[in-house]
Amino acid sequence: METNPSREEIINRIAAAKQKLGGDLVILAHYYQNTDIVSSADFVGDSLQLARSASQQHNAKYIVFCAVSFMAQMARILCRPEQKVFHPNLEAKCPLAEMAVIGDVERAWSLLQKTGKKIVPVVYVNSRADLKAFCGRNGGFVCTSANAQKAMKYVLSLNAVPFFFPDENLGRNTAHAMGISDDEVLLWEPYENTPTGQAADIARKKVVLWRGFCYVHVAFKPSDVEDVKRTHGGINVIVHPECVPEVVRLADHVGSTSFIKNTVENAPAGSKWAIGTEINFVERIITDNPGKLIVPLKEWRCREMAKVTPLKFLNVLENLVEGREQPEVAVDEESAKYAGIALERMLTIS
Ligand code: SF4
Repeated sequence: METNPSREEIINRIAAAKQKLGGDLVILAHYYQNTDIVSSADFVGDSLQLARSASQQHNAKYIVFCAVSFMAQMARILCRPEQKVFHPNLEAKCPLAEMAVIGDVERAWSLLQKTGKKIVPVVYVNSRADLKAFCGRNGGFVCTSANAQKAMKYVLSLNAVPFFFPDENLGRNTAHAMGISDDEVLLWEPYENTPTGQAADIARKKVVLWRGFCYVHVAFKPSDVEDVKRTHGGINVIVHPECVPEVVRLADHVGSTSFIKNTVENAPAGSKWAIGTEINFVERIITDNPGKLIVPLKEWRCREMAKVTPLKFLNVLENLVEGREQPEVAVDEESAKYAGIALERMLTIS
């Protein structure tokens, strides 16, 4: 009788496959991944850390990337051509990344160009490879939540307007942190029929933002912050910048996943924290930080990250051990070339 392997069996088989593959294999995992995957990974990080790590894995023959699929594409672009990149479930697609498609971005770009303003595209790492390539071709950058401010500052120092897509909230929170008001931000409505009026408005604007959002982070509401502060006196609220500005304004700290991790880890014993980001990650911080009170601002899981299961991950490893054919992560040559330029620009300014 065929049955599903138990959790324990999966963990043991993952360890055995890893041992057999030895130095040929490197496993990279995002902080939002399942605990059993994270504990098997060689490197765990946020998008920026994973991009940097992927570009440094010169000795591995195989890179198995556990996260949503655009991140595995990023590894494909940054690693060497002879290295093979695998992903346990290419159907794990970040919905935010799907909110900007190349045709709509090119249409916006051509209308924005007609305003005569110098515009530089800045694409959030949560995006398709062809959008990163678009930035590479047009003098732009990729950025992550850890370096969005650096990228925007750099563009403004060129007397240019950053055209930031696809996450409006990260763009707006970054602009606010730099003293740019909502009046100076143009929100690009990709689905409006007559966006020419929007483009004409650009003369007075410092930043152009795309209307896109992460459904996990917009779930946090100002009332969640108020409630947790009422329940736990003296608690510090720390949130990710994909949260809406109303939540960021009420929070005590805002920053990338690695910023959240470091801030809570370095806080004194006995301190209290409410964390507004993906629940897998928050649960791990709770486990890793005994002696502190840590609660999720709300229990909200990223369904797409969860599509990478330990069993699917194990299948990839065992296919490698057995030499069985399996799909590699692929990016077409043209996109890889220009997306690589935009990613390298990001790594240079970070
Ligand atoms: S948490 Fe949000 S931005 Fe991150 S992968 Fe999930 S949907 Fe995409």
